[in-house]
Amino acid sequence: MAQGDDETVPYTRGLHRIAPDVWSWLQPDGSWGWSNAGLIAGADASCLVDTLFDLPLTREMLAAMADVTPGRPITDAVNTHGNGDHCFGNELLAPEVRIHAAPEVAARMHGEAPEVITALLGTRFGPPLDAFAHRCFGSFAFDGITLREPDVPVLADTTLEVGGREVRLLPLGPAHTGGDVAVHVPDAGVLFAGDLLFIGGTPVMWAGPAASWIAACDAMIALGPEVIVPGHGPVTTVEGVLEMRAYLEHVDRQAREAFDAGKTWERAAFEMDLGRFAGLPDAERVVVTTHAAYRHLDPDLPDAGPVRLFELMARWAAERSG
Ligand SMILES: [Zn+2]
Repeated sequence: MAQGDDETVPYTRGLHRIAPDVWSWLQPDGSWGWSNAGLIAGADASCLVDTLFDLPLTREMLAAMADVTPGRPITDAVNTHGNGDHCFGNELLAPEVRIHAAPEVAARMHGEAPEVITALLGTRFGPPLDAFAHRCFGSFAFDGITLREPDVPVLADTTLEVGGREVRLLPLGPAHTGGDVAVHVPDAGVLFAGDLLFIGGTPVMWAGPAASWIAACDAMIALGPEVIVPGHGPVTTVEGVLEMRAYLEHVDRQAREAFDAGKTWERAAFEMDLGRFAGLPDAERVVVTTHAAYRHLDPDLPDAGPVRLFELMARWAAERSG
């Protein structure tokens, strides 16, 4: 999705000023676990958007942020959703920081807890499947993480006042997960999309339905942001949202056709023609997206669960690369 890239913000690891007193923390290459975060500073307080996948990564980020906002401590934080790469570092925030998130987030944090991921890494499928799990999660330190749940549920559009500055929390899910919150800074024209937006890589739909995620894309575009920080990948504009929206439509249409033709969801995923999106990194995520799409078409279809989904993604990736 290169056409969405904003060349004024280089896609390099670390803290980038994207508007007056607004920063993004970027983690190339944006693949599994390499998420972005953000910081919005007011007169005497700051708001953090997401923590990271492990404690060393989050510690490094918070230190860099403290350097650019002396005297403006983090008083509020947002977990854009409950995947661990956006919330496993929560325990490093000061106890008085109010963490805002959709109601689903606490349950998802625990469902995908560090020990669940460690177990996935320890499951032996044989090569090349073991290599896939390590490619996704092998770079992170899951030891010693104590999950800290959010404090404040985001039940509707909410405006925080952070050091005199307006920060809007917009629950736009279910989409990527069952509880996705975008963070809008109107005075700066900045939107932190969380994993409602993937740039330069394949989106993954854990919850859906796609129609709800597409509506979330339209809602983000309607805000008219000048700068958009995706959950993964380089900083972008509305062009980047339109490109990912097209991917979702493309895959959802084929999943429906396969369902109507009586194919299993596994077969639909393995036969998926990704068209012009075939070259995107992490294309195997279409397995998860197809699984979610089918579960909306057939509510009786059981959840395959993370181990089965990762096993099938590994097979999918091995087949397409071979
Ligand atoms: Zn993520």
